[in-house]
Amino acid sequence: KQRTLAVIKPDALEEHRETILEEISGRGFTVAQLEETVLSREMAEEFYKEHREKPFFIQLVDFMCRGPCMMLVLTKENAVEEWRAMMGPSDPEKAKEKSPQSLRARFAADILHNAVHGSSNEQHAEEKIRFIFGDISTD
Ligand code: ATP
Ligand code: MG
Repeated sequence: KQRTLAVIKPDALEEHRETILEEISGRGFTVAQLEETVLSREMAEEFYKEHREKPFFIQLVDFMCRGPCMMLVLTKENAVEEWRAMMGPSDPEKAKEKSPQSLRARFAADILHNAVHGSSNEQHAEEKIRFIFGDISTD
């Protein structure tokens, strides 16, 4: 089965933790690992290093460390794509149009404060899982 890294960002963890965790299980994902943590600035910068040059990078890092995040390793057939489908588009306005049942359509305030993260491909998933959870458990 494929793995992906999912993050419930600080905005959504505060307000919708139970709902999101229930829906993850309800959609047939297995939670292989789970950890609630407040990211340091250094970790948030490293986590989103691909966006270092973006104009919203500092705001993104501020947001990600403003409170606890829930980090999850999810396994399922086609987990990367399935979790991204469940999240919906980054921008909640687009999400409300295209995917009104998605987590971002329902729980994101705006394109920055958008409730959840999911790896965009299998390679990123493995890289970020290693970054967050270390090298333990590879099956
Ligand atoms: P994620 O990587 O968090 O799963 P994503 O792949 O849908 O989301 P990316 O383009 O990788 O979106 O952007 C990473 C994060 O940066 C977004 O989830 C959002 O929090 C923030 N972000 C993206 N675009 C913007 C923007 N135009 N303005 C403000 N913040 C943004
Ligand atoms: Mg992304």
